[in-house]
Amino acid sequence: MTLEVATLEPGIDATRRFLARPQRRLLIDNEWVEPAAGRSFETFNPATGASLGRVAAGEAVDIDRAVAAARRAFEAGAWRDMLPMQRAQLLWKMADLIEQHIDELAELETVDQGKPVWIGRQAEIPGAVEQFRYFAGQAMRIEGTTIPTSISYQPADKQIFAYTAKEPIGVVGAIVPWNSPIVLTALKIAPALAAGCTMVLKPAEDTSLTAIRLAELLLEAGIPPGVFNLVTGLGETAGAALAAHPGVDKIAFTGSTQVGKRIVAAAGGNLKKLTLELGGKSPVVVLDDADLELAIPGAANAIFFNSGQVCVAGSRLYVHERIFDRVLEGVAACARGIRLGNGLDPATQMGPVVSRKQADRIAGYIASGRAEGASVLTGGRQLGPAGTFIEPTVLVGAVPSAKVVREEIFGPVVVATPIRSAEDVPAIANDTDYGLAASVWTHNLSTAHRLAARIRAGTVWINCHSMYDASLPMGGMKQSGWGRDSGHQALENFLETKTVCAVI
Ligand code: NAD
Repeated sequence: MTLEVATLEPGIDATRRFLARPQRRLLIDNEWVEPAAGRSFETFNPATGASLGRVAAGEAVDIDRAVAAARRAFEAGAWRDMLPMQRAQLLWKMADLIEQHIDELAELETVDQGKPVWIGRQAEIPGAVEQFRYFAGQAMRIEGTTIPTSISYQPADKQIFAYTAKEPIGVVGAIVPWNSPIVLTALKIAPALAAGCTMVLKPAEDTSLTAIRLAELLLEAGIPPGVFNLVTGLGETAGAALAAHPGVDKIAFTGSTQVGKRIVAAAGGNLKKLTLELGGKSPVVVLDDADLELAIPGAANAIFFNSGQVCVAGSRLYVHERIFDRVLEGVAACARGIRLGNGLDPATQMGPVVSRKQADRIAGYIASGRAEGASVLTGGRQLGPAGTFIEPTVLVGAVPSAKVVREEIFGPVVVATPIRSAEDVPAIANDTDYGLAASVWTHNLSTAHRLAARIRAGTVWINCHSMYDASLPMGGMKQSGWGRDSGHQALENFLETKTVCAVI
């Protein structure tokens, strides 16, 4: 069976106008400029395979220019030394502008990334707005402490006055992936700017368009020259140059664990600070006393939302053996009921994955699962005119060593396995290199909180999955990363502590 995918045009004038622009440039020092080598790359609508035009391919020399602009702006101090309330006002204005343009941004994201418009409109873009508002508040809460000391050799008749001050870390390089571009970009920009840093953003090559639009909105919000710079381009050129650049003080990276390791190596040159938000293979655990009315759609949504292209996707499903068949039938029924299509169609529940390359990679995993002994309970096919749709897929019978159990697929594919008791959960859930997230579904609060304490993951949800808030820290243990985005802890990623100790 093939999948018919409607060819639809964006309904919003501003989206159509943006898409009609022939070439999208780099933003350096508040000027839109051509990349030095004049190169560009083509970008595509993954639903149809249609070209969306070209995007500037920034390279090392453009990263040099952008970092120099960010450095000048940092040293000049117009942003760093601005009254915190003024920085907060600009971030708040940015939130308002995103909200005012939400329909346009949601459509643009759909055309560029593939996701249904409702995901951007109802979940991800409101999440980005919330980040800017939350960190607008945090900009006014950057505080040091005074510290009583016990220095025994202080001069007679003198006192020690010691305190800490928080200072912005300097020039930040932000590198983000393609799965949820607007919100993941906001997670970097909002705290970095709140802290008083200046920055260079390198968006993912598959989804550069909304980053360009966000840069335009930042200009409209009144960002001073050089404080925010945008260099679109490829990971191995622009991204690698930014990660290695000696003029960058810190890299805030979200992406795969594999590229995260390259960032660590590249950052060694000047020992720049790093935060890494990396991949996951998150377990969803359904115990035999769970409310299945909640747990079945919850487990389905944990993996199928955004075509499974979610870092915290619940890609390993462990169900108590007494309810395994019932839960699996339920999850498979949810999967079969999901309507695939062009994300611009309001009836679409699941769009394509971001590219043909990614779809082929996911199909390869499904084939490897079969080859290693798993069977496909439902789904499994690659569909659509551009071969970019993957049916929501449930695999059963995979051995713990199978690639589909161990590696991040980053698509709508869940591997389901029965478990015998809650006692077995920590060992099974923790049998992974990753440690990003987990969910536990049970009526027994003691069991839930005991398991939450023993599962090695940055976030554990109880009777829910993928609940986010700007106030909740988000990040991973083990090979899922270093540090946390979101929450007031994220501000610390962009601050240095200075100790001042005076004899008075
Ligand atoms: P990716 O690692 O391939 O790319 C991420 C970014 O890194 C892109 O902008 C890319 O251009 C850039 N890049 C690639 N090679 C580079 C290099 N050598 N040097 C510097 N930059 C380079 O990831 P992806 O495929 O775009 O995104 C999917 C991954 O992101 C998944 O693993 C997912 O789990 C992860 N992710 C994690 C979180 C989180 O919060 N932990 C959130 C979303 C996505």
